[in-house]
Amino acid sequence: MSDTLFLDIIDRKIPADIVYETDQVLGFKDINAQAPHHVLFIPKQHVRTINDLTPATAGLVGELFLAAADYAKQQGVAEDGYRVVMNCNALAGQTVFHIHLHFLAGRAMTWPPG
Ligand code: 5GP
Repeated sequence: MSDTLFLDIIDRKIPADIVYETDQVLGFKDINAQAPHHVLFIPKQHVRTINDLTPATAGLVGELFLAAADYAKQQGVAEDGYRVVMNCNALAGQTVFHIHLHFLAGRAMTWPPG
């Protein structure tokens, strides 16, 4: 359970395999990949959970989706398809308390998710 892990990655205090960056967003490979492509897109601004979004920060979520879609095109997986997931709090399995969009691609996904 961490609030600061991803802030430390943004600040380059903790190493990460960074694959995407804009003024507002950082994308890096998940340390425990669940698909051939598994990238976490995070806002550089700290927001703990989806529940903590406000009208002032809601646009960050759009930035995460734009980053994911751009990355999918860069990786050549946009047309085949991919999944984006954002977990909120305990029952959904959120373990790092800085909102992040999971980007998963490179294999067929099942539904419903576990
Ligand atoms: P959540 O379960 O909160 O939705 O997702 C957190 C994700 O962060 C997990 O998929 C986990 O593998 C990943 N993660 C946890 N610690 C690290 C780390 O130190 N580096 C990277 N790159 N990913 C991490």
